[in-house]
This record gives sequence, C-alpha cells and structure tokens, in this order.
Amino acid sequence: MSNQVEILPQVKSFLAREQKLLINGEWVSAVDGKTFDTINPADGTSLTSVSAGEIEDVNQAVIAARNAFPAWSSMMPAQRERLLHNFADLMESHKEELAQLETLDNGKPFNIAYNVEVNVAIGQMRYYAGLPTKLKGETYNVSSPGYHVYTRKEPLGVCAAITPWNYSLVMATQKIGPALAAGNTLILKPAEQTPLTAIRMAELALEAGIPPGVFNLITGFGETAGKALTHHPDVDKVAFTGSTEVGKAILQASAGNLKHVSLELGGKSPLIIMNDADLDAASETALWAIFANSGQNCVAGSRLFVQSGVYDDVLNYLSRRAGELKVGAGMNQDTEIGPLVSNTQLERVMSYVEAGQKQGVELVAGGNRSGGDLSAGYFLEPTVFGAVNDTATIASEEIFGPVLSVMKFETEDEVIQRANQSRYGLAAGVWTNHLARAHRMAAQLRAGVVWINTYDWFDPAVPFGGMGESGYGRELGTQVMDMYTELKSVWVKIE
Ligand code: NAP
Ligand code: MG
Repeated sequence: MSNQVEILPQVKSFLAREQKLLINGEWVSAVDGKTFDTINPADGTSLTSVSAGEIEDVNQAVIAARNAFPAWSSMMPAQRERLLHNFADLMESHKEELAQLETLDNGKPFNIAYNVEVNVAIGQMRYYAGLPTKLKGETYNVSSPGYHVYTRKEPLGVCAAITPWNYSLVMATQKIGPALAAGNTLILKPAEQTPLTAIRMAELALEAGIPPGVFNLITGFGETAGKALTHHPDVDKVAFTGSTEVGKAILQASAGNLKHVSLELGGKSPLIIMNDADLDAASETALWAIFANSGQNCVAGSRLFVQSGVYDDVLNYLSRRAGELKVGAGMNQDTEIGPLVSNTQLERVMSYVEAGQKQGVELVAGGNRSGGDLSAGYFLEPTVFGAVNDTATIASEEIFGPVLSVMKFETEDEVIQRANQSRYGLAAGVWTNHLARAHRMAAQLRAGVVWINTYDWFDPAVPFGGMGESGYGRELGTQVMDMYTELKSVWVKIE
C-alpha cells in the first residue's frame, strides 16, 4: 500500500493558477510582469510560477498599508479580535491544505507540517487574536502636584515582515498576529524558496474580512523587494527573521528613517549532556535537536557537548540512530527527514561536510547525498562528526543542515566557557538530573532560551529571541506587543 499523501484537489487548482501579489485587497501581477518558479525540493521540479514584486510594487503596497492604517488602528479592539479569530478559524479549516503546500514547497515531512508547523501557526494566530482588548497603558504618581499622567500604547503604523523559508508559516504568523493585533498594517515578504503558504494566508486574511490594505503580500527576492521595504521612508518597522548577514544589512538600511527593527537571526546552539543525565532520553533528544527539519532550524542543537563519562555511549547511539532515520520525500508518510530546501542549500551544507573531512574531523555517520530514486531531490544523509575541535569550521559556523558536531568535555565550568564561545546566542540545552546544577547552568549560558531536560519547545505565550549576533528584540508572548507599539505619555493639568 502506498504511503503517499494524496494531493488535495484545492492544492492542485491552487498550483495550476497564476500567483499574484496582494495589494490593497486586489490580486495583481508585478508592475513589470516578472515572475519566478518555486521549486519542489523533493524532485527539483517547478510547482508554480510566482510574481516577483520589486520597488514599484513595494511603493504601492506601502501606500495601501498607509491608507488602511487610520481605520484599522481606530477600529474597536473587540472588532479587530473578531476578524483575527476569523483568520485563525480559516487557517484551522484549511489546515491540511496549508500543510500540503508547505511540504511541497519546503520539503518537510507532511506529518510535521500538519502537526507542528500549521498547528503552531494556528496557536499563534489565536493567541494574538485575543490581545487587542488587553492592551493597556498606565497612570503615574508624579511629584508635580495637580497633574494626571498616563501612557497610551499606540500602533507604529506600517510594518514590514521579512521571513525565511525554514518555518515559513510560523515565522510569518508570529509577525502577522501581533502586528495586526496592535493595530498596525502590514506588508509580508516571504522567502523566495517558500512563497506558497504566504499566498494562501493572504487569501484567507481577505476571506476573514480583514480590510483591504491591512495585510499586503509582496512575493519576490530579498535583493529587490526585501531591500525596497527596508529602505522605504514610509515603513515604520521591519520585523526580520533570517541570516545574521542580512540582519546587519537591514539594520543599516533602517537608519534612513530610524525604523524600528527586530531581528531573529542565526545560531550555533550548544546542547550539553552531563554524566548524570537520563542517557537514552538525552541522546534521542540530541538526535532530533539537530536533525528535525533536516537541520534547517535556527535553534538546531548543532554543537553537542558530552561529558567524558558518557561520551562513547552517546556517540554510539547517535551514529546508530542517524543511520536508521528514513530520508525521503515529505509527501511520503514514512519519511522522517525531508530534503534540504534548495540545491544552493544542499551545496552549501555539502561544502561544510567536505571542510570537516579536509580538517581531519572524524566522520561517524552519513556525509553523503542520497542516491537512487532520491537523486533528483536535495537529500543529504543525517551526518555526525565526533571528537570535534571547538575551532573547526563545522563547530563554529552555522551550517543550517543535518550536520552535528559532537565534542567531549570534563567539567561544568569548562563546558559553560566553551558553550558560550560563539558569536551567536540563540538557544542552549542542558541534560542533567542535578536540580541545582540545571538552574546554575541555565543562568550562566549566553542564550535567549535554555531548555532543561528537553529541547526545541515553543509556546505562543513564551518570549523567544537571541543574544549577541543572534539578534535582538523578543517575539511571542505579550512582550512582543511592545515591539509593535509606541508608548505615548500624556500630561493633563487638572488643577
Ligand atoms: P536570509 O537569506 O537572511 O533570508 C531571509 C529573508 O530575507 C528572505 O525573505 C530573503 O529574501 C530576505 N532578504 C535577503 N536579502 C535581503 C536584503 N538585502 N534586504 C531585505 N531582505 C532580504 O535567510 P534564509 O537563508 O532564508 O534563512 C536562513 C537563516 O535564517 C539562518 O541563518 C537561520 O538561523 C535564520 N533563522 C533564524 C530564526 C530565528 O528565529 N532566530 C528562525 C529561522 C531562521 P530571499 O528569499 O529572496 O533571499
Ligand atoms: Mg520551494
């Protein structure tokens, strides 16, 4: 019996049509008519052709967003909530369709797209749908007599969201939700590799009753559409998730009109297994910490530090399990590890595998592209390097692929110092059954999130973001609303 996911008729008809830009509630082709193909990474074929918006399209989207702002920002909060709940409801009723589009476009296993990606995105939309009525200011007991002073939280205006391809739907929703909840209008520029769920989301937003111009979509390239958004003098904020290199360029571009910027960037996250850890659970978690989403995960536990007493056991476990993982097309339900997102990404990751071998690092598992039926897609075996030196290229640079570096250490102090030796500071994990040690290490690790005896958990209520070159600002939680609002102080003379 075939274990293929059967493509839904609505997905087929979606792919068969021309994909346009959404500006001011209208689906339009790019002004100069340019398009690009989005590729299925499981077989290298084109899925559909997508409009490539550029400067003029961005200009029009910004005008639409600016014009829609007064009415949207002054709409009754309860009414904004209702529309965002409609949006979440529609995401829910099109869950399978969204998951299929994500699997076809990105490559990830359908079960993961359905149960993780789309579910998380729906949870985020619901969480932010509830926030418009909860925003509030404060009053102040000032020392000057005769004054009543309070603050108001006001939306910023026109926001741009620029998102990556690894969790396209989640990364977009975690910006759309709070931006719209706060009363801003938005222009979304999804990654060129995975524009499809963003297009479907824009359709659902319209269907939900979100007014024209409040949510605009510009598909296209970072170098043109993305850059135009970050330089635009009438964009008030850019929310960006992507590489550290592009994040730095965005920060520079923002200086023109001093846009607000939030940056969720790369990582090279340490996961630490102490001698006293629950070894099987720790090892299995370490396996998925790196290989989930084929390693294309900003929080990937790509540096695994194992204490010397359990090092051999953990390494043996990982090399055995890495070899067992089923690599294949995401639409095959038996697949555990899908392809990398693109040929460029595959070549980039392979160059790191080669660098590891050239630098004499011990290859424990994987390291090859998959052959046979899979040779047309961008597949790579789960790869483990052992006894890696901290300064090796594979142990210090973000690979964003299924490549794990395992390192041995002796003491707690030593591992904290080595784990913190990175320009990044996104996530970290610690496995130990010693309660005090767990909290001590969590406090000492330089990372925006620390997972103890677990890894890679998220919730819309819990803030997420990085330290150092992993970026700044926090997404998720109620805190993110501060990043989509201005605080205004009002002084009233009452005597
Ligand atoms: P990327 O190359 O930085 O691209 C991210 C987005 O920025 C894409 O939409 C891209 O458009 C756009 N872009 C590229 N150049 C631009 C420019 N000059 N101005 C404005 N926009 C521009 O990153 P990626 O390769 O898609 O994603 C991988 C990276 O994202 C990794 O470093 C990973 O760690 C990071 N990431 C971080 C998080 C987090 O939460 N911290 C989450 C996921 C991923 P194109 O698609 O046309 O290039
Ligand atoms: Mg694609």
